[in-house]
Amino acid sequence: MPGVVGGGMRPLLTAELRARLSESADTTDPAGEPDRQVLAQLRASGLLGTAVPVRHGGAGGDAVAVNRIVAELAAVNPSVAIVAFQHFAVSARIAEWGTEEQRERWLPGLADGSVLAASAWSETGAGAAKRNLSSTGTRLADGRWRLDGSKAFATGAGVADIYLVLVRTASEAPPVVPGGYGADGQTFFLVGADTPGVVPELGFGLAGMRGSATGLVALDGCVVADADLLGPVGGAASVIAGVRESGASLGAVSVGIAQGAFDVAVRHAEHRGLLALPTVRHRLVDLATRLEAARAVVDRAGARTSADPGLTTLHSKLHASVAAEEICLDVARMLGSAGYHDGARIGRLLSDARGIAFMGPTNDLCRDLVAASWTG
Ligand SMILES: Cc1cc2nc3c(=O)[nH]c(=O)nc-3n(C[C@H](O)[C@H](O)[C@H](O)COP(=O)(O)OP(=O)(O)OC[C@H]3O[C@@H](n4cnc5c(N)ncnc54)[C@H](O)[C@@H]3O)c2cc1C
Repeated sequence: MPGVVGGGMRPLLTAELRARLSESADTTDPAGEPDRQVLAQLRASGLLGTAVPVRHGGAGGDAVAVNRIVAELAAVNPSVAIVAFQHFAVSARIAEWGTEEQRERWLPGLADGSVLAASAWSETGAGAAKRNLSSTGTRLADGRWRLDGSKAFATGAGVADIYLVLVRTASEAPPVVPGGYGADGQTFFLVGADTPGVVPELGFGLAGMRGSATGLVALDGCVVADADLLGPVGGAASVIAGVRESGASLGAVSVGIAQGAFDVAVRHAEHRGLLALPTVRHRLVDLATRLEAARAVVDRAGARTSADPGLTTLHSKLHASVAAEEICLDVARMLGSAGYHDGARIGRLLSDARGIAFMGPTNDLCRDLVAASWTG
């Protein structure tokens, strides 16, 4: 019965990869270190090419495909799912905004897994909406750019081969205006991890997502070519505004986490011989119903069939992440003391589920962006 919800579809992950990811989730959580071997298996699986167009060696999958893979990964290993989510997001941004040279340089490697991508937008003090960046990009006399600053909470830090970095390139910080995501005068750069001055640092000591290599990335006088700019100079906000239009949703991670929690609940009920009790069966059905609703809104975001797909993506993140937190908490209550020990899977899933609410756009920012759309 575990995995029964949404189980009508053929799994995209092999049974072997699923088992390795699940085993790895148990070991990386106490260590708080990424599992480089399991990431190597993910890279070799062919799945990382999902968001890369066919002509660049990928599968040319849409957001439905991306959301499905992310949810399947998260059901067994949420940390690896967010590493993959960032990889898919950067692949999509390069496909959308990259020059032909950038696409040819990066997309084949992103497709075959030889290149793993990460996003480094956040920094301490920048605010969830990234309006107050301290990191700077300064154009040098020879046309190249010098990047300086310190990025925080970059998932995949130290394991990625390329970072999509957001810095302020306007000499003056723009006036702080309410609303929106990003600000005028900010620019994206594609920065290879081997660029001198790029210094990742783990050991953040996160409460959840402990195998995700979420950490700091220092940019210490890091010089990149003008050809490494992604999108318009000073116009990163327009790139950011388009992200939600793709339909790829962090809500997919939440759906996977909720599925993982549901599976724990079913296994527990089976093991304890509780499935014969109508009250237990009804509680499980209620959990399954909430999980199905979350999956449906994430699927709708991916399919981009609503009148405003960008808004649906925001709703999907909000709905699925809140649902996953609630489902994990309900499962923890169902398990009683069996789920209340150091290292209990449900405790880990609850911490992972909470982390999604803080990932960008944070849930509060999603609420702001949805409300802003009503007033234009
Ligand atoms: C597990 C995890 C992985 C992450 N991975 C990445 C990554 O790969 N790359 C990356 O760049 N970042 C990443 N982040 C950072 C994330 O994207 C957020 O930007 C960051 O966590 C926001 O930090 P904060 O909540 O401290 O912001 P704060 O601005 O301090 O927010 C504090 C609270 O106020 C709310 N708030 C702040 N500003 C607004 C606003 N304008 N409107 C409404 N509410 C607001 C926030 O929602 C939050 O609840 C990750 C975070 C986590 C937890």
